Amino acid sequence: MIKVDKKEIFRYLGYRKNLPDEEVMGLVDRCLADLQAAVTPRCIFRQYPIESVYAIDPAGRPKDQGAKEAARPLLRIAGMEIRSGSLSRNLRGCESVYLLGTTLGLGPDRLVARASVTHMSRAVILQAAAAAMIEAWTDSVNRQIMEQAAAQGLYCRPRFSPGYGDFPLEYQQDFARILQLQKEIGVTLTESLLMMPSKSVTAVIGLSREKEGCVLHGCEECTKAEDCAFSVSEDA
Ligand code: SF4
Repeated sequence: MIKVDKKEIFRYLGYRKNLPDEEVMGLVDRCLADLQAAVTPRCIFRQYPIESVYAIDPAGRPKDQGAKEAARPLLRIAGMEIRSGSLSRNLRGCESVYLLGTTLGLGPDRLVARASVTHMSRAVILQAAAAAMIEAWTDSVNRQIMEQAAAQGLYCRPRFSPGYGDFPLEYQQDFARILQLQKEIGVTLTESLLMMPSKSVTAVIGLSREKEGCVLHGCEECTKAEDCAFSVSEDA
């Protein structure tokens, strides 16, 4: 059973300070129970060295301000060549990374598709609950990774997914190949590079010998974000 914080579901549904009424609460509980019965959570994660980082000054920004593309830092990870200022900043000082893939399986997509035909408000709540559930599942996998990293004397940076900041979504294809996502966890890519099942996540998690005190939910929820040299919240 995946432990889901209901506040996250309410947040996805657009509730801020106020809680939903009893009817919605009841619907959320039923949707959560149906999702718990329908999900088939799977994960894959592997550790890779960061092979090289070029042209990064101590502030994590490219030294060469010439051609914009050429000036962006280059990372080599598991055969991928990635030009992304935000990912480079986040991984500065890291010696390796975990590449991660998680999924809830096709169950949530089937429930949403069925509800969309017969009961739209249930479909909306299922979407929100499934979004909170994939985050909760990925958090629990992230905690396993933190334990494995700690055993090597390493600390995790927040996870960073293709499509975030200036880390292009196209890298989903490399993740799919490197982690063998279809074989390992049943995840494929659509032509527009979206993952199927839709409640799936891929991410890079940097590993450093320095303890930065990173928070699991990332720079946007970190109180140190304003002064942190590795923060990526400004790129989101
Ligand atoms: S802002 Fe917080 S979570 Fe983000 S890299 Fe810095 S310490 Fe880690």
